[in-house]
Amino acid sequence: MWNRDSKVRIEKDNNRTRRNKAWQLSIIAFSAIILLIALYTFNVRRSGYTVRREFLLDTYVTIAVNGKGSNADKLIDIGFSEIKRIDEKFNPLNEKSILYKINHAAGKWVKIDKETHDLIERSLYYSNISNDAFDITLGRLIGLWGFYSLSSTPTSIPSKDDISKCIASYGADKIELEKDRIKLRSNCALDLGGIAKGYAVDMAVLRMKENAPDITGYVDAGGDIRIMGKKYGTLPWSVGIRDPRSEDKSIDVVYLKGGSIATSGDYERYFFYKGKRYCHIFDPKTGFPATKAISATVISKNLVDADALATTVFVLGPIKGIQLLNQLGVDGMIIDKDKKIYKTKGFEYYEKRR
Ligand code: AMP
Ligand code: MG
Repeated sequence: MWNRDSKVRIEKDNNRTRRNKAWQLSIIAFSAIILLIALYTFNVRRSGYTVRREFLLDTYVTIAVNGKGSNADKLIDIGFSEIKRIDEKFNPLNEKSILYKINHAAGKWVKIDKETHDLIERSLYYSNISNDAFDITLGRLIGLWGFYSLSSTPTSIPSKDDISKCIASYGADKIELEKDRIKLRSNCALDLGGIAKGYAVDMAVLRMKENAPDITGYVDAGGDIRIMGKKYGTLPWSVGIRDPRSEDKSIDVVYLKGGSIATSGDYERYFFYKGKRYCHIFDPKTGFPATKAISATVISKNLVDADALATTVFVLGPIKGIQLLNQLGVDGMIIDKDKKIYKTKGFEYYEKRR
């Protein structure tokens, strides 16, 4: 009895010893993992980010990538050369660009590559879902208002007559788009300024990730930002949304661990005439600068979509704009001319540091 009992007891003791060993091993393994994470974070933090800024896409573009030295420099070179390529390709003022060729074809077909086709097709999608608030055929109107002048800002506004005539030149129905060619009605001109910045940044991020899949950092093109992974591999990036009436103040802060954020504001390019502000984003219905909003911010996975949508909802204004974003399941914030703030249902998720 006793022996059997004792055997049982010994067996029990063996089990306890085995369990204790397993616990000890798990604790050691757990501590090792914590130590590795701490070391990684310490290393990443110590090496920090390499940051470079260049003037491209009509604005200052900043690229930040983790690490220092030639590797980081090489990645930034890759990012900037991709942005440069797209900037040159879709700049309507660059005589060598495909956009210049399309705009000066006098109603004839122009051969285009897949990239051009796809970007125009995506733009037409945003025209379609916004009842033409987003419109890439406003080239003549933008020129008429003087926003293509590189050296000066406009000092007066065009006549109502000229604006009415110009309205007849644009509209999505003036484009015939096929897989490898495009034709515009003769006095129509394309302008991709509302979407190309986002596309260029997305492509730069793609190229950098091809070369460094674990890259973290961001690309910021004048406030339109694409995040590449968490800061130091663990933290969210905090992004300030500019107060549209105060250059150095933020009106809100959002926290992003990935994805993109774009803001369209009437403070980016504008002029005053007889005490009234006229900005660079137009309401295609009136031929005048849009006035229902003074700032519109959109958060989405790709910057090309956030960029196009920010311009779109800027034109639509807060009521229709928020409605459209909710319909699409995209989050955003729109500020009207009285500085009243409107947000989508899910926007507050990004306002909390997680
Ligand atoms: P963003 O800063 O992204 O809002 O883009 C503004 C630029 O988009 C302008 O400078 C124009 O080149 C172009 N644009 C202006 N109005 C519109 C519009 N209603 N739809 C699409 N693009 C526009
Ligand atoms: Mg835009």
